[in-house]
Amino acid sequence: MNYSYWEKEYLLANIDYLIVGMGLVGLQSAIGIKEAKPNAKVVVIDKHSWGLGASTRNAGFGCFANVSEILDDLQHDSMENVYATIRKRYNGLQKLRSKFGDAAIGYENIGSIEIFTKENKAYLHKGIDSLQGINTILYTELGLDNVFSFRSNNALPNTIGAIHNAFEGQLNTGKLYETVYQCAQQLGIMLYGGIEVTEWEGDNDILVQTTKDFRLKTKNLILCTNAFTAKLIDEDIVPCRGQVIVSERIENLPCKGPHFYDSGYYYWRDIDQRILLGGARNKDVEGENSYDLVPNDTVLAELKRFMNEQIFGREVAIDYEWSGIMGMGKSNEKQPIVKRLSTNSIVAARLGGMGVALSANVAEEVVGLIYDV
Ligand SMILES: Cc1cc2nc3c(=O)[nH]c(=O)nc-3n(C[C@H](O)[C@H](O)[C@H](O)COP(=O)(O)OP(=O)(O)OC[C@H]3O[C@@H](n4cnc5c(N)ncnc54)[C@H](O)[C@@H]3O)c2cc1C
Repeated sequence: MNYSYWEKEYLLANIDYLIVGMGLVGLQSAIGIKEAKPNAKVVVIDKHSWGLGASTRNAGFGCFANVSEILDDLQHDSMENVYATIRKRYNGLQKLRSKFGDAAIGYENIGSIEIFTKENKAYLHKGIDSLQGINTILYTELGLDNVFSFRSNNALPNTIGAIHNAFEGQLNTGKLYETVYQCAQQLGIMLYGGIEVTEWEGDNDILVQTTKDFRLKTKNLILCTNAFTAKLIDEDIVPCRGQVIVSERIENLPCKGPHFYDSGYYYWRDIDQRILLGGARNKDVEGENSYDLVPNDTVLAELKRFMNEQIFGREVAIDYEWSGIMGMGKSNEKQPIVKRLSTNSIVAARLGGMGVALSANVAEEVVGLIYDV
């Protein structure tokens, strides 16, 4: 197919800011730039019709930390980095809420619960021992009092204790994406799906090669390609696929709100009288290091077992299942990468497994990196 005169000379011409990736980071970066420079031509492109990496395929947890994950992360990363990431997630979540409004994004500020069974009893004890210390640091970092508290009782089967986080919640991923997308549209940002970038050259007038046998010209290039970034540039990012299932509708759900188990490898919540459960990536780590949006039978079987045995205590039907791709560090680094690649190009990627909360913060960092804003 040849592109028309109009497409080449008007729709896809004179771009001031070309953002690659129509996920939450790409859209919010575009919004931030357009708000700062209303006369600029801001274009967001994606290889798919919309942000079909992680942003429309996640679980909708509005979360910043759980105790076991903090203890795990402290084994791999410095205390400074671990708490800096938590701070960015918390601040990002507040920005998302204040910019778009809780009603529009379906945010429910109902706290979260990490459950423990006898299989991970040692983690519970470690968690209880560390609770006060973590709460003290979080008070200094976030100004929040007693973020975590221990509860000995929980209604779910096999549970021997739980640790609550009083300051996080859950949102509606569909409503959030729609709200952010519409905000971008209303500002006059052009959103084009079906264009994949393969490489680029130059720095003032950057020529961007696409798989459509067409080169776009832009003054500034911003990669918001998360997990897929390592296909374009040499960065410490690996794709980590996540599987998700959603139960049939059930009158009286056994639990509500965000829940975690096994250092956050299992996560579930209620939505529209159903339970949405994701994770179990640790059951096939190698298999889930993939760019392909396909099911993983081993992981799905484990999720279904967990749904029946650990959440409902009986068999339930599964109405939906899908996968999404997260971008992680090779050694499990959780700090996102936001940096300038050259005078007029920027990358914002590696959002990890709690990237919804991080996205507003990362987008703000992108805008801060643009020289003349
Ligand atoms: C199963 C699952 C559950 C999750 N649950 C949660 C949760 O509950 N809470 C939470 O905070 N986070 C969660 N996350 C993480 C969160 O969804 C992501 O961190 C966040 O959405 C990342 O946004 P993004 O814009 O950086 O990336 P993405 O949404 O992945 O967007 C990147 C886009 O770039 C496009 N792209 C890539 N390469 C190219 C190219 N060469 N040319 C053109 N386009 C390209 C892709 O098609 C994609 O649309 C989850 C993720 C998954 C997969």
